[in-house]
Amino acid sequence: MVIEKLNLCNYRNYETLDLNVDSKTNILYGDNAQGKTNILEAIYICSTTKSHRGGKDKEVIKFGCDDAHIKIYINKKNKEYRIDIHLKKNKSKGIAINGIPIKKASELFGIFNVVFFSPEDLNIIKNGPSERRRFIDLELCQLDKLYVYNLLNYNKILNQRNKLLKDLYFKPDLEETLDVWDLQLAKYGSEVIKRRSEFVKKINEIINPIHKKITDNKENIIVKYDKNCDELELYNQLVLTREKDKKYKTTNVGPHRDDLSFYYDDMNVRIYGSQGQQRTAALSLKLAEIEIVKSIIHDTPVLLLDDVLSELDSKRQNELLNSLENVQTIITCTGLDEFIENRFKINKIFKVKEGK
Ligand code: ATP
Ligand code: MG
Repeated sequence: MVIEKLNLCNYRNYETLDLNVDSKTNILYGDNAQGKTNILEAIYICSTTKSHRGGKDKEVIKFGCDDAHIKIYINKKNKEYRIDIHLKKNKSKGIAINGIPIKKASELFGIFNVVFFSPEDLNIIKNGPSERRRFIDLELCQLDKLYVYNLLNYNKILNQRNKLLKDLYFKPDLEETLDVWDLQLAKYGSEVIKRRSEFVKKINEIINPIHKKITDNKENIIVKYDKNCDELELYNQLVLTREKDKKYKTTNVGPHRDDLSFYYDDMNVRIYGSQGQQRTAALSLKLAEIEIVKSIIHDTPVLLLDDVLSELDSKRQNELLNSLENVQTIITCTGLDEFIENRFKINKIFKVKEGK
């Protein structure tokens, strides 16, 4: 799939923007704080409904304005799609696909797939487990509607269970109701775990050859997600930790506490790896992500590279840019040296200056 056109109105530092992108490699270059990442962010919102930066929807509205519009035109297997996002100051956002408003934001998932790569992603191995859960959740939500359904229900019930654990102190009679929540939590939680396990299995089928190429065959990488628990097993674990949960007034087991670990053969990269090894593992993971998305959607996602090239040495830059064949890519950078030195083919260059 490719983006054909992007329009912005009162979005961050853009009053208006009308951008016709090339179907291959596009560069957005300019000094710091000119609006490069803002463009990638707007595209990302059209895919996931949320900013990659986190934060509140209204933060993207241009200072002094009441609302912002993003409009994106996509060509997917020769079919045209238009996604309109209307972000409002004090109301929830409106989303329309080909002019037809959708009721739930999750209906947008899967229409338009992007892979976003920023310098923070290079720290995914050394950061805390929540970053790795966020990675897997964002990916699966784009690819699997049932995952979204199970995860949303799981999180809803988890919140209710945690609220109950807090209320128990004042109303101990409520303890009997805990079992109802545990049954539900086990039902949705085991589905979340099952789908995460399948996803990690797919990563492992793809990541090692990519990684070996980047490291000149020196290292084998394995991603571990040591969870294989069915509904009954998760329910039993919840029952077993009830006393602890009551004491800490929160739920201590379940997929909301999951983590992924990365190993070079027997070595845990997060604990023992050098910074370079951790970043290389992160790059391999990102490259594997592109391949997985391709294989699941039977199409190419759009790749957004925010300032990552300057963070990589030239061998890794080459690996990354060479893997982009046939994938529409939008790259932000402050200079063009890397492209000139490596003689990479660029199809369109945009200079970004003060929101123009
Ligand atoms: P860098 O190279 O430093 O990453 P960039 O070109 O990617 O820079 P952006 O992150 O796109 O820069 O931000 C550009 C500008 O947008 C910043 O100067 C910021 O102050 C401005 N900005 C952010 N939010 C808003 C907003 N809601 N309204 C107006 N301007 C905003
Ligand atoms: Mg930026």
